[in-house]
Amino acid sequence: SDLKDDVVLITGGGSGLGLALVARFIEEGARVVTLERSEEKVSRLQQQFGEQVVAVQGDVTCFADNQSAVAMALSRFGRLDCFIGNAGIWDHNASLLATPAEQLESGFNELFAVNVKGYLLGAKASAPALIDSCGSMIFTLSNAAWYPGGGGPLYTASKHADVGLIRQLAYELAPKVRVNGVGPCGMASDLRGPQALGQQDTSIMQSLTPEKIAAILPLQFSPVPEDFTGPYVMLASRRNNRTLSGVTINADAGLAIRGIRHVAGGLQL
Ligand code: NAD
Repeated sequence: SDLKDDVVLITGGGSGLGLALVARFIEEGARVVTLERSEEKVSRLQQQFGEQVVAVQGDVTCFADNQSAVAMALSRFGRLDCFIGNAGIWDHNASLLATPAEQLESGFNELFAVNVKGYLLGAKASAPALIDSCGSMIFTLSNAAWYPGGGGPLYTASKHADVGLIRQLAYELAPKVRVNGVGPCGMASDLRGPQALGQQDTSIMQSLTPEKIAAILPLQFSPVPEDFTGPYVMLASRRNNRTLSGVTINADAGLAIRGIRHVAGGLQL
């Protein structure tokens, strides 16, 4: 793999998609650092991967924590090739009308702080090292970056905002750094919601089932986090990706090509 010995920083590597990305980039021969808020997940990562991963405990909403993670990559491995902004929270479909105004107010601040500010601060902290290495940034989006109903207004707006961030950063950092996004569909993970909405201990599969996820997807299966890692590997690779920047990949099992009569037009095949 041409990712061998590349150094990759992944936020939210403690579970779900982030954990699958940690495992996949290690498998590709990369050296991995992750910034993760949960102490319990940090120690689990260290047990599972040993020396292969450097797990930094910290919060993506804090610039100093992002800086510590980048500094750790540079001191341990001497370079940084890719920053993957991935840590995020959901809103369990909290709707405009059903959510009290004060919860919308505080929930917005908490959710946007993680999903949008966290990406911005990670980009700020990693940009100098990525300019040095002519590396790349990749941000985790969601089907909610394109379509309504994959969350409430807080989550959907945050993922749309991340698309704007990707485009602006791709512009500002060209020609040195490629900046792209990957938008997964629903998957079983530990994705939680804001404390402001009382959702800090509620994970996504308490609101969804694998059957419900499979039913709405034209490819008719319920993806696991590992199923989304391929596009990240491709985007991070200098060999496979010299030309994509400012691009967002819909990694959502065909969500956009739903038909009118059936979700999947080839169900009889
Ligand atoms: P997850 O909760 O399993 O993983 C997210 C990780 O980020 C957790 O380990 C969590 O502890 C960590 N984290 C949360 N807030 C943090 C903070 N402030 N600082 C540092 N770490 C923090 O959930 P996941 O589903 O793997 O989510 C990863 C990304 O995938 C998110 O951006 C999410 O929006 C996106 N996504 C998820 C789904 C889904 O159905 N699960 C669908 C589309 C997009």
